[in-house]
Amino acid sequence: MIEVKDISKRYGDGTVALGGVSFSIDKKITSIIGKNGAGKTTLLRILSTQLAPSSGTALINSHDLIKNADEIRKIIVSVPQEAKPIQYISASDFVRMYLSARGFGISEAKAAAEKALRKVGLWEFRDKLTAELSGGMKRKVFVATALASDADVIFLDEPTTGLDPFSRIEIWHAIKALRGQVILTTHYMEEAQALSDDVIMMDRGKILSKGSVNELLKGFDGLVRVEGRKRRKMAYKVGDVYVSYVDRRKAAKFINEGEIIRPIMLDDLFIKRGVNLES
Ligand code: ADP
Repeated sequence: MIEVKDISKRYGDGTVALGGVSFSIDKKITSIIGKNGAGKTTLLRILSTQLAPSSGTALINSHDLIKNADEIRKIIVSVPQEAKPIQYISASDFVRMYLSARGFGISEAKAAAEKALRKVGLWEFRDKLTAELSGGMKRKVFVATALASDADVIFLDEPTTGLDPFSRIEIWHAIKALRGQVILTTHYMEEAQALSDDVIMMDRGKILSKGSVNELLKGFDGLVRVEGRKRRKMAYKVGDVYVSYVDRRKAAKFINEGEIIRPIMLDDLFIKRGVNLES
C-alpha cells in the first residue's frame, strides 16, 4: 500500500515537475500514464527514494519516505529507464550479484536467480554475456532481478520503451509474474491497458484521474473513435486530424466516407481533456 501525500517537486532550474499530488495505490499493478514531461519519472524517482521531493511525503507499506528511506530501500526494487546490466558478466552472474548486494547468501541467491531466470525465459541464455543479449532480453534480466529479490514493491520506469512487439509481450508476462506491488510508468496506452489493475493519468505535474481501465473508460460505452480530415461537430483536433466519438452502430457510414475507425483506448481520455499525446 502506497499513500502519496501532497508531493511536489521543483527542480533547481525552477521547473515545477510535480505540483502537489496525492493518491493511494492499493492494487497489484498500477500504471502511471501521460505524455513526455508529465512528471511520471520524477514521481517514480521520488517514490523509490532516489530523489527528494520539494514538499510532501509518502507512506510505502507504512514507512515514511522522508523519515524511513532506509527501511523503504529494503523492501523495494527500482528499475530506471536507462538501466543497462553490467556488460561483461553473464545474465546469471548479474542477477546473483544483485541479490548478494541485497544481502542474500550464496546458495540462496543461486536458487532464487535460477527460479527467476527460468520464469522470464532467460534460463537457456544464462551464461551469455549481457552485452550479447538483445534489448528485450536485457530488460528481462532486470525483471528477473526484481522477481528474484522478492521485493514488496517494484518500480519500473518505461519498462518496454523501444522494444519490439514480441519482447514487449514477454516483458508483460514477466511483470505479471512479480509477487509484489508493481508501479510502472509508460507512454504506451495499450501497455497500461493490457497490464494494469489501476491507471493513474498525469499531465503537467498533476493527477487527472485514477481508476481501473473499465472505470476510466465508462463514459465511452458503446462508442468508437472516428479519425479523419473532415471537421465534424464536437470533434477534437489532434495534430492535423479531427477525432470524434460516435455510436459504434454508425461506424459503417464513416468507413464509407474514408474515415478511420478505432476502438476506444486510454489515449481517448487525454484527447477529451485536450491533451495531445503526440506533441
Ligand atoms: P515524464 O517522465 O512524464 O516524461 P519527467 O518527470 O521526466 O516527466 O519530467 C517532468 C518535467 O520536469 C519536465 O518538464 C522535465 O523537463 C523536467 N525535468 C526532469 N528532470 C529534470 C531535471 N533534472 N532538472 C530540471 N528539469 C527536469
